[in-house]
Amino acid sequence: MRSTTFKSTLLGLSAAALLAGAAATAQAQEKFVTIGTGGQTGVYYVVGQSICRLVNRGQADHNIKCTAPSTGGSVANLNAIANGEQDMGVVQSDWQYHAYNGTAPDKFPQGANKELRAVFSVHPEPFTVVARKDSGIKTFDDLKGKRVNVGNPGSGARGTMEVVMEKLGWQMSDFKLAAELQSAEQAAALCDNKIDAIVFTVGHPSGTIKEATTSCDSIIIPVTGAAIDSLVNDNAYYAKATVVGGTYDGTAEDVETFGVGATFVSSTKADEETIYQVVKTVFDNFDRFKNLHPAFANLKEADMITKNLSAPLHPGAERYYKERGWM
Ligand code: GLU
Repeated sequence: MRSTTFKSTLLGLSAAALLAGAAATAQAQEKFVTIGTGGQTGVYYVVGQSICRLVNRGQADHNIKCTAPSTGGSVANLNAIANGEQDMGVVQSDWQYHAYNGTAPDKFPQGANKELRAVFSVHPEPFTVVARKDSGIKTFDDLKGKRVNVGNPGSGARGTMEVVMEKLGWQMSDFKLAAELQSAEQAAALCDNKIDAIVFTVGHPSGTIKEATTSCDSIIIPVTGAAIDSLVNDNAYYAKATVVGGTYDGTAEDVETFGVGATFVSSTKADEETIYQVVKTVFDNFDRFKNLHPAFANLKEADMITKNLSAPLHPGAERYYKERGWM
């Protein structure tokens, strides 16, 4: 009896040890990828979440677990990538350029991030101004003296608004109120009449702008003129852009503005195989990917791997593009 008990205890122990060993191996192989996005009613968040869902479906094959938390936006993502806190992020093309080249020290105090890597570009993001109809705002100049949400620090949208203001020689004190609300808070603030206008660089259609144009009477304001022309002419990461008429209630005609492109970036710190698997998931399932968000409807592979990318390609992305014969 005694010996049997002893034997079974031994067996139990070795089985437990075996199990623990197997768990440790599985754990060692499991990889994580974090994609920084933006506010929950923007396009970045929807897209990041959807890509992770696609990646996680293939977990049995590649053992990569993808998460896409909500963040402050482009500038916050680029800093988190530089610090190794995020593996990937969705960022505006202008801030990708500045982070890689060190040309915006107020946003990226650590200087040029030469480890930054481009992965692919996605949808256009027009610089979009929405004003309450009863505010009387009809042009960008009319924003002076009004209550305006300039965006949260850390968002790319806020940074691009600062660039436009600097070009026009405007100060924050030129507004009656310069609010710094997060993108997910601004539509409610507009429709509660706490502010007269919001400024948001975002893809269309976006949840935020939909909310702002359906919850109250508001219109999209054009952003044109000599200052904008000169920004577009002088910087490859800006382009003229249009918010297509009929996209939102209250604005039936096309509205002219300028804009940037949304891009996916990573870093040399992120493992080649992991980024390869994320890229493969996107392009192996391209039709499904384009259906993830209406802002993706017109995406073309050839543009995505060349346009709006100022940092060099991540080796994991390059490996996939070469495999497909795209490079
Ligand atoms: N372009 C915005 C930013 O970087 C975010 C847009 C979005 O959330 O879709 O701040």
